[in-house]
Amino acid sequence: MSTDDRQSKPQPRAWFESLDDSQERYGLDEVVYTGQRGGLLQVVHDMGELAKTSAEEWKALFDSRAHRNQWPYGSGVWGKKEWVLPDIDNENVVSMYEGHTNLFWAERYGREIGIEDLWLKLCGNSHTGSFKDLGMTVLVSQVKQMISKGVSIPAVACASTGDTSAALAAYAAAAGIPAVVFLPRGKISLAQLIQPVANGAVVFALDTDFDGCMDIVRQVAEKDGVYLANSMNSLRIEGQKTVGLEIAQQLDWSMPDWLIIPGGNLGNVSALAKGLDMLLELGLISKRPRICVGQAEAANPLYLAYQRDFEVFEPISARTTVASAIQIGNPVSYAKAVDALRRYDGVVEQATESEIMEECARADRTGLFNCPHTGVALVALRKLQERGLVKNSEQVVVISTAHGLKFVDSKLAYHSMKLEGIVSEHPNPLIELPADYQAVRDSMLREIETRFVD
Ligand SMILES: *Cc1c(COP(=O)(O)O)cnc(C)c1O
Repeated sequence: MSTDDRQSKPQPRAWFESLDDSQERYGLDEVVYTGQRGGLLQVVHDMGELAKTSAEEWKALFDSRAHRNQWPYGSGVWGKKEWVLPDIDNENVVSMYEGHTNLFWAERYGREIGIEDLWLKLCGNSHTGSFKDLGMTVLVSQVKQMISKGVSIPAVACASTGDTSAALAAYAAAAGIPAVVFLPRGKISLAQLIQPVANGAVVFALDTDFDGCMDIVRQVAEKDGVYLANSMNSLRIEGQKTVGLEIAQQLDWSMPDWLIIPGGNLGNVSALAKGLDMLLELGLISKRPRICVGQAEAANPLYLAYQRDFEVFEPISARTTVASAIQIGNPVSYAKAVDALRRYDGVVEQATESEIMEECARADRTGLFNCPHTGVALVALRKLQERGLVKNSEQVVVISTAHGLKFVDSKLAYHSMKLEGIVSEHPNPLIELPADYQAVRDSMLREIETRFVD
């Protein structure tokens, strides 16, 4: 680029930069996912520019936009547009007003486990039922902007454990952009499967696991020019980081003592930390919370690395888990996640299949409706509490990543005591009776007596 060109164009306020010390930079409208040395990129913002606005002004601006309808700022993601994707034209934003999911006090569950200041951030209360919408609105909007500028992108593609493909299919369909998804055959829930099918994506069910699908999508991205929508594309992280911004905003610009989040490919914990970094740097919060990542024992490469102080990382072959969205043995964002955990005095916990189902069931009995991944986070919380790391007086926010209705198969099997290898300590099987008053009455009184009277 000549000096003249540079002067005639406004300077970008955000760009891709390599994570290593080479500090290579790329424009956000370039099709690039990794640096010269093969490491992931991250989106870097012109923090000097953002710091020209004071913390109080940012808070006031963000608060004034929340839940309003001025396009596209009513979205939880786009209400923070300057921090997310500052240079995009509003007409290219593809949004379904994602974000602003509820953060609520889990009063009864918290009281039962002895942590009274316990909150749940229900990211699954979103268009496609998981937090993946937060990242996908950003990625698909950027693709729309690139296409409008003449970049040739035949389709957007992802490998998925279910929720990423649902989000990609929905946002691509809303934008009229072709989507291709690669799913591990038989390893995702019916609710997740029907979403990309209904939204008209090209859906491949491959005889492999998530990591095998990831390998295919990398090849079609590299060789056939389709745009890669997995979280190794750091645009998604920019949208997902708003979960941290929202939690701060919903707690009146404060931070809890602990944030607990389930992790698979580890993009989301990296995103959470990146949001907190910006809040701290720009002075909207001053307290640094601790972060805990929960993994399923069946898919625990981060947990194993944590046991060795992150000195060695070995990918594993993930075994089957009810927490199917985190059944990942070779997480793409491992390095970013380790950095994030180091900055936030992080810990990693793991949960067995039976622990996951029992904790979901126990929590559901208090009115929650947890997906298994949220169950993993709840088990992690219980273990931190047992180890004395989380004190009963501390404030804890558990990040619930998907809507429980996407994962009913394992819940149903649990309550009908048909989940292989699991005893079901809190089952609630259906009571099947003839329509006979006396029989119904006897059964009803017996059930009320045993369940609700101590
Ligand atoms: C994707 C997903 C996760 C894991 O997020 P990562 O960024 O892969 O760590 C957890 N829970 C649900 C429901 C998901 O869809």
